[in-house]
Amino acid sequence: MPEGTVHDVVIIGSGPAAWTAAVYAARANLKPVVYEGEPVGTEIPGGQLMLTTDIENFPGFPEGVTGPELMERMKAQAVRYETTVISELVTSVDMSQYPFVITPSYSEPVRALTVIVATGAKAKWLGLPNEMKLAQQGGGVSACAVCDGALMFYRNKLLAVVGGGDTAMEEALYLTKYASEVVIIHRRDKFRASKVMADRVLGHKKVRVIWNSEVTDVHGTDEITAIELTDTVTGEKSNLDVGGLFIAIGHEPNTKFLNGQLDLTSHGYIKVDPWRTSTSVGGVFAAGDVIDDYYRQAITSSGTGCMAALEAERWLAHHGIGESPILETAEGPVEASPEQMEEPPTDRRSVPRPRGGAGVAR
Ligand code: NAP
Repeated sequence: MPEGTVHDVVIIGSGPAAWTAAVYAARANLKPVVYEGEPVGTEIPGGQLMLTTDIENFPGFPEGVTGPELMERMKAQAVRYETTVISELVTSVDMSQYPFVITPSYSEPVRALTVIVATGAKAKWLGLPNEMKLAQQGGGVSACAVCDGALMFYRNKLLAVVGGGDTAMEEALYLTKYASEVVIIHRRDKFRASKVMADRVLGHKKVRVIWNSEVTDVHGTDEITAIELTDTVTGEKSNLDVGGLFIAIGHEPNTKFLNGQLDLTSHGYIKVDPWRTSTSVGGVFAAGDVIDDYYRQAITSSGTGCMAALEAERWLAHHGIGESPILETAEGPVEASPEQMEEPPTDRRSVPRPRGGAGVAR
């Protein structure tokens, strides 16, 4: 068990859910500590919005706002109150101990009475042998047009985008600024993307779509030269010479560091109670894209971040720490029976917990 301060709330993540949770927790005097992550490959603190250009649907910005600016402003708002930001990844959380133990990449483990997991989701890859190799060596394969598309490497070349969702549409439109032509490769004959985004793409003179096709190989030693396409209807194979390949086929939630300690949905997202952010472990809450495979919007992430902070505040108040403005609801307070207590609380930091389980049973 690490020595030192026990934090009321540790927030893991740095997207809209994490910063909104931090703003609410800080304003509730919980002095949140945010582990915002660190740059690893195409993953950077700030989450997926750091890879997004204009956001036109976040309320309060009638002229639109860029993803990075929105994240910067949310972070500044959290820091304006008493939020401590640590630029490290969390490598593990031990939920079998209470207070929970959070282990970051470099610094000492810390303890926390409540944890809010807001680690988002990351891009998926096709899984082809040469795909990752070329992606890792900057050889013309990427999962983030906004990160890489403006590089000289990609200028005035034919660029391929794989996928049929909103991300693929957004990436294709972004790449039209730099490419000679953008070719979207989609495995079906209909986009999954919203109509407005699909129409923008289909009406763009620099974009062409190859329907019913999958990328089944990536050619090139140091740099990509071509991709192999397989027709999903006929099985026929063909090659397309390209100067870059952008994979935009969706995302997977970042939950590996939890090491199976929280219940997940069948799609690997953290399972939370209906209309709540409480997880299978009492005192651990989750918010944002790591719980959401349905809405996946900045505004819904912010909403669940707010909910998580309020629930953490309320949970602490139920266990004798601080006050919650929303204690009185239809749900009664959670109480541990005397025999469940390890020892009576001696100060604000020694919250009782049931024996033999992670956190406090709900
Ligand atoms: P998505 O909606 O899940 O779409 C993924 C696309 O990739 C689908 O078209 C899918 O094909 C295709 N795909 C998946 N695996 C594949 C594989 N192995 N090989 C080839 N193709 C594959 O993911 P997304 O586009 O990242 O969007 C996620 C969510 O974020 C959506 O709710 C979206 O609306 C939202 N979003 C919104 C905006 C915005 O409003 N500006 C921008 C980006 C994303 P099938 O269609 O055949 O399944």
